[in-house]
Amino acid sequence: MLTIDGSQGEGGGQILRTSLALALVTGQPFRIERIRAGRKKPGLLRQHRTAVLAAQEIGAARVSGAELGSLELEFQPGRVRSGEFHFAIGSAGSVTLVLQTVLPALLQADGPSVLVLEGGTHNPFAPPFEFLAQSFAPLLERMGPRLELTLERHGFHPAGGGRMRVAITPCARLAPLELRERGAPVSRRATAILAHLDAGIARRELEVVQDKLGWRAEECTIESAASPGPGNALVLAQTFEHVCEVVTSFGQRGVPAPEVGRRAVHELRRYLAHGAPVGEHLADQLLLPMALAGSGAFVTGEPSAHARTNRDVIRVFLDVGLELEPLEGGRTLVRAGPPRAQG
Ligand code: AMP
Repeated sequence: MLTIDGSQGEGGGQILRTSLALALVTGQPFRIERIRAGRKKPGLLRQHRTAVLAAQEIGAARVSGAELGSLELEFQPGRVRSGEFHFAIGSAGSVTLVLQTVLPALLQADGPSVLVLEGGTHNPFAPPFEFLAQSFAPLLERMGPRLELTLERHGFHPAGGGRMRVAITPCARLAPLELRERGAPVSRRATAILAHLDAGIARRELEVVQDKLGWRAEECTIESAASPGPGNALVLAQTFEHVCEVVTSFGQRGVPAPEVGRRAVHELRRYLAHGAPVGEHLADQLLLPMALAGSGAFVTGEPSAHARTNRDVIRVFLDVGLELEPLEGGRTLVRAGPPRAQG
């Protein structure tokens, strides 16, 4: 049985999720210790526990240590089955991170699946729905599978209550992805999502986007969300020929709306400045499908601690090289290939 140190590198939930995902794909059992030791509240939170239970159900796994707060867990996968699944987090924990855990196995399962996931759909420190739908999923589809993502209800912290449906048509084997250039700019859209809050908040956020990025009024939209609790997210999506980058900032008590706008603008500018197609979050999330494909390459900026940690965990489960090669201008070539090519 493999032993994974949950405190390594970035020390967050990603280490657990990647381990679960790859245990399902490879059939390899593992034990993880010091789960999320790098976080303020270490151990399994509701969201992580739901990810473990989802992986258990899909992979007919034997599990011990899946209690809330647990710092150690053992996971012995059985046979992965496709089909219809419903997972409710029971808090505002991120549904997209639960999806991240089970998706790799279902992408190559023996039949199609439909998942209904309930919890938070728009959470800080997790991919928001729009990121999955507009940035991540289209790239994954280029690798062979089909993904249909539907946001049925928004869920914000702390009330949660969101719902996302995901229909997955698998493929026999993931094809390599090559993503070295953005291509020509195609479109851009700023969406200020609001639930149970004053529309003036959205207007002030969008004013910053128009002011600082020069986006036109018709590229800016206010979307009112039917959600059980209040919430606000500003989503900036910039689409190029080969990739779409989605950055998000969240409204928070005590943070003025223009500041929410400035944070999103700052993040998008960072992406635009390095000129690489793959942004910070997309980079750490593409590593796993790329490793499963066994070859392929993309260009990103400086790899984050998340990306480096994810790479280290992937290499424990898969015999694959994931090389990070510095390029000019703060860019990095990430390449999957035979193990001897490891960097
Ligand atoms: P962890 O902090 O270990 O639980 O992992 C968080 C995951 O969420 C990583 O895969 C991040 O790339 C992803 N993530 C965090 N913030 C965003 C964001 N604003 N947009 C897209 N993905 C995000």
